[in-house]
Amino acid sequence: MYKTIVVGTGPSGLTAAIYLARANLNPLVIEGPEPGGQLTTTTEIENFPGFPEGIMGPELMANMRQQAERFGAAFKTSWVTKVDTSKRPFKLTLENGTELEAETLIISTGASAKLLGIPGERESIGRGVSTCATCDGFFFRGKKIIVIGGGDSAMEEGHFLTRFASEVRIVNRRSELRASKIMQDRARQNPKVAWSLNRTPLEVVSGEKGVTALKVRNNETGEEELLETDGVFVAIGHKPNTGFLEGQLKVDEQGYLQVSPGTTRTNIPGIFACGDVQDHRYRQAITAAGSGCMAALDCEKFLEGEMVNDWSHIL
Ligand code: NDP
Repeated sequence: MYKTIVVGTGPSGLTAAIYLARANLNPLVIEGPEPGGQLTTTTEIENFPGFPEGIMGPELMANMRQQAERFGAAFKTSWVTKVDTSKRPFKLTLENGTELEAETLIISTGASAKLLGIPGERESIGRGVSTCATCDGFFFRGKKIIVIGGGDSAMEEGHFLTRFASEVRIVNRRSELRASKIMQDRARQNPKVAWSLNRTPLEVVSGEKGVTALKVRNNETGEEELLETDGVFVAIGHKPNTGFLEGQLKVDEQGYLQVSPGTTRTNIPGIFACGDVQDHRYRQAITAAGSGCMAALDCEKFLEGEMVNDWSHIL
C-alpha cells in the first residue's frame, strides 16, 4: 500500500510529487496517455518565472519529472479506469486490471480541449483539424484557417495564427462573442481576421490532401454554407478529465472537482485535487504548479494528523 498516489503528470501533479518525495512519502505517480499534460503540446513558455529567455513546454515538464525522480518519486504509466473512494485505503484500478491501494490520493488529471462532435472532425485531427494553435500553427504558413469559438481562447488563437496564415476566419454560433472586450478588440483590429458569426458548424469537409472546407448553418437564413479553408482550429473550451472518477467525488456543473475554498481538499478526507481538473479560472502552468504544492502540503498534514490518531491508542 502506498502512503500517497498522484494521478496525472502535468505541472500540478509533478510539483506535488516533488514536495511529497522530499517529505519522504515515496509517492507513486501515475502517468496517463498524455505525460506532462497540456504543456507538452505547446512550444515556448515565456511566462513561467525563472526562465527569462523562456523554456520549451516539453523541456519544462521533463525537468519537473526528473526533479521528482531525484527525490524518490516512482512513476507508472497506465490509464486509471476506476477509483473507489468509499473507504480507506482508497483503491485504484488500472487498465490492465491491477489494483493499487493508497492512504491518500492527489488527483491532477488536468483538462482536455473540447471537440464539437461534428462529422469529419475527430478523424481529421492532425490532418487539418487541431485544438492547439501554438502546436500546429506553423504548418499553416500562407494558408487559410478557420477558428471555431467566440471566447478568449478563440480570440487568442485566432490572433496568434495570423502570424502564419494568410487569413483567419473566426466562426461562432452566436452573433455575440463571449470573449473579453480587450481580446475582441485585438482580433477585430487585426486585418487578417475575417468573421462568420451566427454560424453553427455542421461538418468538416476533407479531400485527398486534407481539410478543404467547413460546412456551417447560417442561423439568420437557415441555409447551409461552405466556408473554404485549409485548416480548422477548435477553440470552444476545455473539459476536466474526471471520467474515471464517476460520481466518486463532488464536481461542479461543468464537471470540475470541487475543493474547499483556499485548500485542495475534496469532499472526501484524504483526497486532494490540484491543477486544471479543479480550476477553470486561471488554467496557468504556474497556478497549477502552485496548487500542486498546496495539495502535497495538505496531504502531508492529513497524514501527520492520521499518524497522531493511529499512535494515540498505542501510547
Ligand atoms: P469559453 O467557455 O469562454 O468560450 C467557449 C466558446 O466556444 C463560446 O463562444 C461558446 O459559444 C463556443 N462553444 C462552446 N461549445 C460549442 C459548440 N458545441 N459548438 C459551437 N460553439 C461552441 O472558453 P474559452 O476556452 O475561450 O475560455 C475559458 C476561460 O479561460 C475563460 O474564463 C477565459 O477568459 C479564459 N482564457 C483567458 C485567456 C487570456 O486571458 N489570455 C486565454 C484563453 C482563455 P457560446 O458563447 O454560444 O456558448
